[in-house]
Amino acid sequence: MDKKIIIAIDGYSSCGKSTMAKDLARAIGYTYIDTGAMYRAVTLYAMRHSLIDGDKVDADALAARMDDIRVTFGRDAATGLPFTQLNGENVEHEIRSLAVSAHVSPVAALPFVRSALTRQQQEMGRAGGVVMDGRDIGTAVFPDAALKVFVTASPEVRARRRYDELKAKSMEASFEDILKNVKERDYIDSHREVAPLRQADDAVVLDNSHMTIPEQKEWLLNEFHKATQA
Ligand code: C5P
Repeated sequence: MDKKIIIAIDGYSSCGKSTMAKDLARAIGYTYIDTGAMYRAVTLYAMRHSLIDGDKVDADALAARMDDIRVTFGRDAATGLPFTQLNGENVEHEIRSLAVSAHVSPVAALPFVRSALTRQQQEMGRAGGVVMDGRDIGTAVFPDAALKVFVTASPEVRARRRYDELKAKSMEASFEDILKNVKERDYIDSHREVAPLRQADDAVVLDNSHMTIPEQKEWLLNEFHKATQA
């Protein structure tokens, strides 16, 4: 049997990384790890403890509490779908809100947040057999990953997808607000000092602006077979 590899899927906000990463993991029997959910859960913690005021994060107070924040993943017995837990509480729904999206990038830019979560992610993927999606998986978390995919699509296409996703869950959404948030996160994620979003030199690029989900899936499976047969 082929050795189980690490698959890093990085790219811009809302370009369908998690859908494709989840699908791929299911198809090849790997574990899917959503690292964005981990940054979102830390952000939710900071919001609940009033550590965020407007654009400002109280970094010292958050740093002092980092050891009290435990982000884990559970699995719904009925649907088989993974969900995110913050100190044991299922927060999967709440972390997807636009309020959390609006604050997550400044929190994710804090070096002590990144080092704590990066360490956990490295631990989760150590044995291989994982599909991990995020912004810095192929560059910082697993620079030696056997397959690195960098996903991109136009901001408008991405905002439309996030809008449809929130509407489908009956969550509050305005297309203009989402587009603004997508562009803001792109900017902050690409310009932060620690582990900025960038394409790894050895990543394969997927621009899925005009691709259907089945087309993406086929493309990705093909890349997976190439990587495992190499
Ligand atoms: O993937 P998702 O949009 O849920 O990620 C939310 C935010 O978490 C991103 O905008 C980014 O600021 C941060 N993030 C990160 N590094 C990762 C994953 C997510 O900085 N590996």
